Amino acid sequence: MRVMLVDLPARDGFVSKDTIAGGYGSRLVPFSRVTRLVSECKRRFHEVPSVQLAQLAAILTRHGHDVIWSRGELPRTDAAIVLSSLVDHRHEAVWADECRRRTGAHVGFVGLAASKLPELFRSSADFVVIGEPDAAIERLARGEALSGVVTSPPVPDLDALPLAQWDALEARRRARRVVPLMPRPYGGGIPVLASRGCPEFCTYCPHRILAGHRMRSVGHIVAELEALCARFGHPYVIFRDPLFTEDRDRVLALADAILTRGLTLRFECETRLDRLDAPLLDALHRAGLRAISFGVESVSPETLRRVGRRPTADPHQRAIVDHCRRRGIVTAAFYVLGFLQDDWASIAATIDYAIALGSSFAQFKLLTPYPATPLWKQLAPRVYERDWEKFDGFTPTFEHPSLSARELRFLLGAAYTRFYVRPSLLSTWARVPTRSVRSVMRWADGRVAARHARREFATMSRTVTC
Ligand code: SF4
Repeated sequence: MRVMLVDLPARDGFVSKDTIAGGYGSRLVPFSRVTRLVSECKRRFHEVPSVQLAQLAAILTRHGHDVIWSRGELPRTDAAIVLSSLVDHRHEAVWADECRRRTGAHVGFVGLAASKLPELFRSSADFVVIGEPDAAIERLARGEALSGVVTSPPVPDLDALPLAQWDALEARRRARRVVPLMPRPYGGGIPVLASRGCPEFCTYCPHRILAGHRMRSVGHIVAELEALCARFGHPYVIFRDPLFTEDRDRVLALADAILTRGLTLRFECETRLDRLDAPLLDALHRAGLRAISFGVESVSPETLRRVGRRPTADPHQRAIVDHCRRRGIVTAAFYVLGFLQDDWASIAATIDYAIALGSSFAQFKLLTPYPATPLWKQLAPRVYERDWEKFDGFTPTFEHPSLSARELRFLLGAAYTRFYVRPSLLSTWARVPTRSVRSVMRWADGRVAARHARREFATMSRTVTC
């Protein structure tokens, strides 16, 4: 059987799918000069192929099937498996209709969006997989004709899966080039999942609503890294687990195994800051760690507790970010604006904190009640947005108790401007260590912040009245 794995590029904005927002995806349509720049950077460094599809490629090739990848092309195949998303679901459904009409392929959808909202895809597909797709695609690979809504149970033992397979994809990937100050090469890296799910309980998070938390063994991960080194030489690996360092001993053993086996790779990971300490960072850095991303979300511990998130103490957050700066590990902090407790002052305080923390990069998003999360159940009566594609992380979707949609959008833009348009960011990127330079930069920051504030006041006095 010839099977096409389909990861469609979106029609507008910068769209990330696969493991972003648990698989619902995000879409940044630039709405200011700074977000345009951020979007362009993402386009060059964050276009990463789907690790979910690479996992399915491995299952299909193990059974002797011919696998090809598609970014929208329509060659003749027996079956097409389309990666679904929330933010681009209409485009995906239209493409599937066209694929069935022109090629006669048996078309199915996989992913979180298909699992939680199968009705968005049902009329455009021969089958829609609900749940982790591995078991269902195993059935397809064994010759079963999948049809309708297909329930697929979670994989209990991740080590039982074959290693993700990139053979059919790699020939069409653009070249990767190292760029100064950027840990991730131009052209992206290779994603790896060392675990699935998350053991935490943040009520707004879609990472934990498909299946429970499970981890691969160190031996299984190292086998995959060895295969990547053999195929790509010196790969840049992006661990896409939401909580990579959950088990400290396990990641220490992984770092040890990378060094012992002489694997020459660089990697980045995502985690919580309370799951990091200086000796662990040093061990990971020796093994190739060059960047980490982590959620800070809000400066207010009480706000975080209200959404089931355990706050991390401020001194610990600052100590970890400082240690990373000294080690040359790039840091990216995530923030969420528009929690129910938020008002203008608390969001301004979160933006100030993002600057003071001193991470290399920051990503700000609006609180989004993703379908099937506990937050969705809580906020459903307040949700006014009926277009699922607007649940993209950057669009207001529900009636906030104290901030209008325009104010939220404005504060989101102000967060990006304040974080990225300031002199001290240059000293952070250049890792300038001296106190005197830093204090000069802070003084310059104050001047720039005052200028931002004057512009913001002028802008809001025009827009808020509408
Ligand atoms: S720590 Fe919270 S926000 Fe992060 S992946 Fe886990 S549940 Fe989601």
